[in-house]
Amino acid sequence: MLVARSAPRESLIVTGARVLDPVEGVDAQVDVRVDDGTIAAIGASLERNAHRVVEGTGLVLAPAFVDPHVHLRSPGREDEETIASGTAAAAAGGYCAILAMPNTEPVVDSAAVLGSLLEQAKTEAEVPVGFLASITKRQEGAELTEMGELADEGAVGFTDDGRPVVASSLMWRALQYASITDRPLAVHCEDPTLSRGGHMREGIVSAELGIGGWPSIAESVMVERDLALAEYEGRPLHLMHLSAHESVDALRRAQAAAVRATAEVTPHHLVLTDDAVRSLDPNVKMNPPLGTQHDREALVEALRDGTISCIATDHAPHARHEKEVPFEEAPFGVTGLETSFAALYTHLVEPGVLPLETLLERMSAGPARAYGLDPPRIAVGAPANLVLLDPNASWQVTERGFRSRSVNSWLLGKTLNGRVRLTVAAGRVVHES
Ligand SMILES: [Zn+2]
Ligand SMILES: [Zn+2]
Repeated sequence: MLVARSAPRESLIVTGARVLDPVEGVDAQVDVRVDDGTIAAIGASLERNAHRVVEGTGLVLAPAFVDPHVHLRSPGREDEETIASGTAAAAAGGYCAILAMPNTEPVVDSAAVLGSLLEQAKTEAEVPVGFLASITKRQEGAELTEMGELADEGAVGFTDDGRPVVASSLMWRALQYASITDRPLAVHCEDPTLSRGGHMREGIVSAELGIGGWPSIAESVMVERDLALAEYEGRPLHLMHLSAHESVDALRRAQAAAVRATAEVTPHHLVLTDDAVRSLDPNVKMNPPLGTQHDREALVEALRDGTISCIATDHAPHARHEKEVPFEEAPFGVTGLETSFAALYTHLVEPGVLPLETLLERMSAGPARAYGLDPPRIAVGAPANLVLLDPNASWQVTERGFRSRSVNSWLLGKTLNGRVRLTVAAGRVVHES
């Protein structure tokens, strides 16, 4: 169940844009008219019906994005993000829907906590938001939550993100219960006995810097285990924020064996390597940590060929005072909602590494499908979930430019190409620049 604040649906017409919907197979310079929040007509020189006109010449109109992995920090850390600020940041990033993680204070592990979040989202959320509930109570990895009750209350899935489910027996039972609720199970794959004490990826750079590293196998052995459990139970599984080539190999093998596994990758893992940690900037400290060039290339290739079907920001806001400390003391996590498209357009599409159509699909239909949501599409009769992109815009990422309450972006000060000009979510204009 996705919820947003209620507001009147709008009517508008976007004229002259390159309309690009890889799922519907549309790539043409045509007008798109929205009547009362629903796509009513697509074609050349459409009747404008006295609607507001958005001039789209030179721009790309695509299905808006879906982010399957966002930390909204509510309840508990509203100094870092709120439902209102996080969904406003999502709107600015071109998203029409986001999914929020349950590792809040308190953890979303009961129908009561989930119910109050859903109520709050009905008055605050700028774009539709869905909430995942935790797999284990307080995310302590000891006792399963009441998954059936949480699903009935509206949980869109289950995860202990931020932590792995360490005990295999518990993960096995979680898969069995998830089959009853029919909601996806999403896993943060990390073997804490291997990652303990690590602040970055273990390797040449960590050795040179003298910083404790966590090895790639801390992720991939858990990926292998979770895929084995999913195969044994015949249940689907969603792997979060993959970072290591060994994990990609394991996923590829599992999919070839007909295991129903989906996976996501973040913009930072697609663009950066552990070499970036030489800056000792706490804004390149994330979990899982940045990998090698080999990992980066494997992730890009898996995204390109569809093995990884989702781009997820893992938007993780942190208070300034928490990040403005030496690298080893800083918490893991970076923001990403407002920069994801431009970062990937600049670093993957413009250099010719990834086709624009593939990027758009992996930011929209891919994540929607992984969670059983209706993919945003540009088709007559579909709800208007649209993003208008300016491929020729160049802009600098600055602290003042964010709608998020936090500024821990790995892109601060960088110049990016490609900008979100307009976002329409569930029939409402939620962002314009
Ligand atoms: Zn995680
Ligand atoms: Zn996360």
